[in-house]
Amino acid sequence: MKNVAVILAAGSGSRTGLSTPKQFLPLGGKTVLEHSVQTFHDHKGIDEVVIVTSPEFMDKVKEMARRNGWTKLRAVLAGGKERYDSSLSAVRYYSEAPDTVMLFHDAARPLVSDRIITDTLKAMESYNAVDVAIPAVDTIVKCDDQGREMDSIQDRSLLWRMQTPQGFRQKTIEQAYRIALKDPQFKATDDCGTVLRYLPDEKVGIVRGSERNIKLTYADDLSLLEFLLSVPER
Ligand code: C5P
Repeated sequence: MKNVAVILAAGSGSRTGLSTPKQFLPLGGKTVLEHSVQTFHDHKGIDEVVIVTSPEFMDKVKEMARRNGWTKLRAVLAGGKERYDSSLSAVRYYSEAPDTVMLFHDAARPLVSDRIITDTLKAMESYNAVDVAIPAVDTIVKCDDQGREMDSIQDRSLLWRMQTPQGFRQKTIEQAYRIALKDPQFKATDDCGTVLRYLPDEKVGIVRGSERNIKLTYADDLSLLEFLLSVPER
């Protein structure tokens, strides 16, 4: 049974307002993607790494892999329009190995740590699905779909902010998507949501994330990431 890191790097990153997708932006002398891959590649519990990217960036990623000597890289796969299309590309790649533990990680979270990966792998010994998350520090309000008026405020002590990696046994995530894709209303911004919704009997474990494990979303996040990179984790 293998532990595989799936690095999702097929997004266009339109919210940064920049023409280069956010995972290919420079950060501390490397690209954001290289930071994310390297941390998983260097982890002793990870056996293989798969990178999912858009077809026009596949050669660039293969060249990056050669330059960095990523010997655990098993495949560079083509992603799709939605994030879940990119996840599915990796899920299908491992369809002959249903017991594989797959950790899906946003390439845009370059400060994922060794400790988070260790804890996620550990949690996979007790669950078929886990997510890294941190408690919400702000009060969170549900609004109308235009963001103009408030609807309701949930109890903050029960609210957590989801990060990645998200870990699944291959057969679990494949089954969740098999059911989800038959639902005409299906939409998803992450993979755990698909398990929660379509496999309601499956318990989804929580692994404590980190405030450093932010997702590069807006151009200004790069300055924050540069700063965090210069400050060692406590
Ligand atoms: O768009 P969002 O910030 O949710 O993207 C999170 C991660 O998923 C990014 O690393 C992005 O490259 C990846 N992604 C993907 N395929 C898509 C959309 C997003 O691999 N179609």
